Amino acid sequence: MSATDWLSQSRLILASNNKGKITEFEHLFEQLKLPVQVIAQGQLNIEDAIEDGLSFVENAIIKARHAAKISGHPAIADDSGLCIPALGGAPGIYSARYAGEHGDDAANNTKLLEDVKALRKPDQALEAMFVCVLVLVQHAEDPLPQIFQGIWHGELLEVPRGENGFGYDPLFWLPELGCSSAELSKADKNKISHRGQAMQLFKASLNSAR
Ligand code: IMP
Repeated sequence: MSATDWLSQSRLILASNNKGKITEFEHLFEQLKLPVQVIAQGQLNIEDAIEDGLSFVENAIIKARHAAKISGHPAIADDSGLCIPALGGAPGIYSARYAGEHGDDAANNTKLLEDVKALRKPDQALEAMFVCVLVLVQHAEDPLPQIFQGIWHGELLEVPRGENGFGYDPLFWLPELGCSSAELSKADKNKISHRGQAMQLFKASLNSAR
């Protein structure tokens, strides 16, 4: 089996039901001009997998295998989140359900701001990083998942800023750009984000294999 056998199939399943991610991926995949149709798993009524791994990479593999198993097609999954080193890496793999309910962005942001309050030091930025691990499996039992990881460094704001993006974007400050990631356009965010970085590595692997 070669790393690009999946390109001869008609479809690649995007193993995510997160609207914010799917919108960013649509844009990123458009630029790749793949000869396969990329379909979000929701279009095939595939529900979310149970993410019971302890790391981004474990959960991304679980999601990709789940979508490949149900669809019978190759699948690509992204497990991503925000890590605050001062919180021991939290919310981390629990980013989507940090406040309890899966995907409640407003509640997650409020809880995070509350949790870091006591850790802030006067005149010191609080380090934050977005992590994205992309996993491609050619079939459900693929023994050699292809793994691409992106890390985006920034700081955690004290109050939300910006209307774009999703999730923790309004809290993620980019000191070198002087804005939050929710103040970037989709195209600009994709150029530098954790997801954009992982996609660049994916693209490079395709170019070297073709
Ligand atoms: P997952 O779907 O289990 O990988 O959870 C991803 C969660 O991480 C999202 O629901 C967001 O809370 C957060 N997250 C991941 N990527 C981003 C991003 O690009 N912007 C903002 N939040 C993100």
